[in-house]
Amino acid sequence: MSYPHVITKTIKEFKLISPTTIEEALYALNEYKTDTRIIAGGTDLVPLMKHRAVTPKYVVSIEKLKELDYVRLVGDQLRIGALTKINTIKNSDVIMKNCYSLYEASLVFATPQIRNVATIGGNICRSSPSADTVPSLLVFNAQVKLVNQKGERIIPLEQFFTGPGLNVADSDLLTEIIIPIEKGEYGTAFHKISRNTSDLAKVNCAVKVSISHEKFSDVKVALGAVSDRPIRAKNVEKLLIDKKINAENIEKASEMVINDINPITDVRSTEIYRKEISKVLVKRMLNLAVERAQK
Ligand SMILES: Cc1cc2nc3c(=O)[nH]c(=O)nc-3n(C[C@H](O)[C@H](O)[C@H](O)COP(=O)(O)OP(=O)(O)OC[C@H]3O[C@@H](n4cnc5c(N)ncnc54)[C@H](O)[C@@H]3O)c2cc1C
Repeated sequence: MSYPHVITKTIKEFKLISPTTIEEALYALNEYKTDTRIIAGGTDLVPLMKHRAVTPKYVVSIEKLKELDYVRLVGDQLRIGALTKINTIKNSDVIMKNCYSLYEASLVFATPQIRNVATIGGNICRSSPSADTVPSLLVFNAQVKLVNQKGERIIPLEQFFTGPGLNVADSDLLTEIIIPIEKGEYGTAFHKISRNTSDLAKVNCAVKVSISHEKFSDVKVALGAVSDRPIRAKNVEKLLIDKKINAENIEKASEMVINDINPITDVRSTEIYRKEISKVLVKRMLNLAVERAQK
């Protein structure tokens, strides 16, 4: 019996290349530049290939590059290998201690099954405006290391995204995320509004604040799913720097987020809801980050 209304799609045939060293991976990426995709955990790429939204001729699997799977403190930097699983982030004391909002993001990231295979590098390189690890990385001024056969470059994560699903990586391999860790007292917070945790964000938000003499000495606010890429809310930040920490200043600054965002209506939410909830979310995350910084 056939069901004419059911459209069955299968993955288009491709050649799988499975290097065991970074050098081999870079060679393959250079050799098959066009029509090639990198695959890490495959939780984004495989559904896209199934729907034939992407149909690469070659797929370079980086699964065997175990040297890209680490979380380590190097001096005053936290370094995370691109192949680090979301579950590793969730279970890392180093991340919990130094980058609490990223730890919080890992708690509400998809399901245990997805967290076991999804990588932080894949989350960044998919470049979805709603990627859950990205707002926390943005408030920490994270940088990413991009490598190809000619050499490497380190760029601020904020300059990595160019649009929905788009970034400056070309056929470069993202190998590492570098997070500067401050010495002083600071507080961070992350929250995602979604239908349920395994769903993508309607809006997500991370905040990092530093406090000196009861004033904000530094404020970083980042949001996802409210623009064509994850963004920093610089109008909110500007309004709070050097200001006294009180409810009135936080309320006023949170309202300013409207000037930083440009949300759309899609399957997950509406423009109006996203605008309203962004103000609420920024206010709540600022209050929580302040509370944590003061502990
Ligand atoms: C059921 C389900 C629930 C999900 N829930 C969430 C969620 O709650 N929050 C969230 O943010 N996401 C969610 N996702 C999306 C996805 O799981 C994440 O984006 C994940 O981190 C992608 O990582 P990956 O290793 O699977 O990437 P892959 O699918 O392997 O790759 C994704 C993209 O990045 C590129 N890429 C991967 N690694 C590199 C690298 N090192 N260098 C250069 N390019 C690279 C690939 O070519 C591809 O274009 C969900 C997905 C599913 C299927």
